[in-house]
This record gives sequence, C-alpha cells and structure tokens, in this order.
Amino acid sequence: MNNEQDLEKHPECPFCGSRDTEQESAFGSEISKSQYYCHGCNTMFERLKYDGKSPDDGR
Ligand SMILES: [Zn+2]
Repeated sequence: MNNEQDLEKHPECPFCGSRDTEQESAFGSEISKSQYYCHGCNTMFERLKYDGKSPDDGR
C-alpha cells in the first residue's frame, strides 16, 4: 500500500512515527500548509504542501 494519496491524507507523524493521522481543516490564510492530528500521540502537527518543487534548493 504505497499510495501517494494515502500518504497525503495520512502522513507519518513526526513525533511518534505513527500513520494513524488525520487531516484537520485547512486554515484559510495558510493554503501552503496542512494541519494534521495524530491519534497515536494525540498531537497536532503541520505539514507543508509541496508545489512540485523543493522549497529548499540545497543551500
Ligand atoms: Zn504521533
């Protein structure tokens, strides 16, 4: 199950590494960020949406 859409909806939690995550409703002002909630450690975390190009071109 290496589905990119599934990864988009359920990204790995940066704190506990769980995939039991859920996307919260996006903030209107910050369309480049998505907020997620991890059911594994009950923590909210943000994840940047990539526009197909890397935001960091390797400084
Ligand atoms: Zn977690």
